[in-house]
Amino acid sequence: MRTITAELLTIGDELLYGQILDTNSQWMSVALSDAGIKVVRKTTVGDIESEIMTAFAEAESRVDIVLITGGLGPTNDDLTKPCLSRYFNCELAIHEEALAEVTEFFRSRGRELTEVNRQQAALPVCCTKITNAIGTAPGMWFERNGKVFMSMPGVPHEMKRMMTDIVIPKLKTTFETPVIHHKVIRTIGIGESFLAEKIKDWEDGLPPHVKLAYLPSLGEVKLRLTSLGASFETLRDEAEDLTAKLRTRVNQFIYGYGEDPIEVVIGRTLSERGLTISVAESCTGGYLSHLITSVPGSSSYFLGSIIPYAYDIKMRELGVRPETLEKFGAVSEETISEMANLVRARFNTSIGVATSGIAGPGGATPEKPVGTVWIAYSDKNKLVTRKLQLSTDRALNIRMASVAVLNLIRQNVG
Ligand code: AMP
Ligand code: MG
Repeated sequence: MRTITAELLTIGDELLYGQILDTNSQWMSVALSDAGIKVVRKTTVGDIESEIMTAFAEAESRVDIVLITGGLGPTNDDLTKPCLSRYFNCELAIHEEALAEVTEFFRSRGRELTEVNRQQAALPVCCTKITNAIGTAPGMWFERNGKVFMSMPGVPHEMKRMMTDIVIPKLKTTFETPVIHHKVIRTIGIGESFLAEKIKDWEDGLPPHVKLAYLPSLGEVKLRLTSLGASFETLRDEAEDLTAKLRTRVNQFIYGYGEDPIEVVIGRTLSERGLTISVAESCTGGYLSHLITSVPGSSSYFLGSIIPYAYDIKMRELGVRPETLEKFGAVSEETISEMANLVRARFNTSIGVATSGIAGPGGATPEKPVGTVWIAYSDKNKLVTRKLQLSTDRALNIRMASVAVLNLIRQNVG
């Protein structure tokens, strides 16, 4: 089956000045990928005729489908429409149906149709008009030599509506698009390169129509298997088989599949098992609790947290023994153990977890450099501690330590 390719062309000076972010092409990439159309390039040009014409020609030479947004406003700075008219060598003329639509758009809002707005109904005669249900600039669909050019307004919600309602369905009937299947496997607690090493033989054995991507983010790595074919069921079953083989190599690092991040997976486990949790977090300053409580329904398992940042509060509010702090310091296995046990007892929860470390940039000692973090997990059967050596970046350390605790919960919850 032939791959159908697309290029996204976003037009507008404001995109190149950086005044607005090109969110259109990101959204379109997702929509096209879901439709089995492969986006192979994204281009951005300003409102400059020669640039636009060159971009059209280049895009036409390399892809089947060119999707354009922007430059369709009624004012003189927007040039996409006259450029398309020149490029396809056909004149602009008032399109009666488009005129009726734009007239109705203004009438329904109690406004007069100005000449400038009337000109929005002038379209190249060789295009098919695509109705803009929520704005004034119609879309334009061109076909030539088996290729499609589709021009849409830059306004994101107008573009999205047009894409969803008309353009994607029309592309699917115009081209024989393959089915696309994505499977995301979420791993935690192993770096990208170590993971790659462990699964090398599996990766080398993937069939050619299945592509693997490593998507690392703080503390975790997502693996995405993308496959193209004729039948969704076949692709899905194949992805399941491949995942099962992957599990034989790195099962202990896999915490879930699809969209759900670690805090959601943990939350599901805790509520399924009727367990409750409390947190004593020092160096993470509330971030761990924030992650846990960002999950809807977390009130059924998260009872509360304490942020005993100061020595004094560690002793007075949590009950850490002064001797422990004096002898071993706040960032120590002894202190973190007490913190996890104490918070569990104080809050009367099934599980207590704790963090204490040097987030940086200050506070380091020769034995305890920036990024030294102790974390602990406590339940009625066990106490597990772990020492992490993270980075020199404060924000990163806070995030990584919090994710590491979530992983510790995953590994130890009975
Ligand atoms: P235009 O069709 O050029 O009149 O664009 C109308 C408005 O849509 C612009 O002022 C931008 O705010 C917005 N816009 C244009 N292109 C994009 C894009 N690629 N991503 C997000 N917003 C856009
Ligand atoms: Mg513009």
